[in-house]
Amino acid sequence: MQKGQIRVQTENIFPIIKKFLYSEHEIFLRELISNATDATQKLKTLSSIGEAKGDLGELRIDIAIDAAEKTLTITDRGVGMTSEEVDKYINQVAFSGAEEFLNKYKDANIIGHFGLGFYSAFMVSEKVEIFTKSFREDTKGVYWSCDGSPEYELYEIDKDDRGTKIVLHINEESKEFLEADRVRGILERFCRFQAVPIFFEDKQI
Ligand code: ADP
Ligand code: MG
Repeated sequence: MQKGQIRVQTENIFPIIKKFLYSEHEIFLRELISNATDATQKLKTLSSIGEAKGDLGELRIDIAIDAAEKTLTITDRGVGMTSEEVDKYINQVAFSGAEEFLNKYKDANIIGHFGLGFYSAFMVSEKVEIFTKSFREDTKGVYWSCDGSPEYELYEIDKDDRGTKIVLHINEESKEFLEADRVRGILERFCRFQAVPIFFEDKQI
């Protein structure tokens, strides 16, 4: 088990993220689906050059809500991450000058270009969990969680299936994202022409 601090170069990234784009909170879903799509496309490429072995199975992205648990979950069957990769790509948020930059360009599209994609989940979540397992042979599953403070937890878990599941514990102000019609509406707008089939509550978008 590893505990540590997310390495951001500003004092604390999360207040900035939460303030940013107040009216555009729904973009978190587009960011997480685009990550799931990227991970799936990477796997297809690695398979085509023989680096990912075996049958890839059905490649799809699933979104589900659990209103009782107040969670929204995004699951993909893409490349997944090793614990080194989680440490490198999730914990090390190189974000110098972020505040200044965000104040200058209050533009919804900038957030993705900016490597803040994954962290946009904290606009709507009080806690975010990652369950992931790399396509690479002989790697263990990995669990990561963070409650919006810069402290995270990272440890190995048993996980059978390859890919990544992101569990968002939706915060009080963002309850709308636990409503099926609201989420389906966003998915229908954002996810019409995706390269990987997207399912909401087991129905294809
Ligand atoms: P970007 O997508 O612009 O690289 P993000 O913050 O959205 O920035 O994601 C950071 C990195 O975390 C990705 O580049 C990828 O390496 C890793 N990552 C995020 N989500 C996933 C996922 N679902 N599967 C595998 N890797 C992921
Ligand atoms: Mg991204």
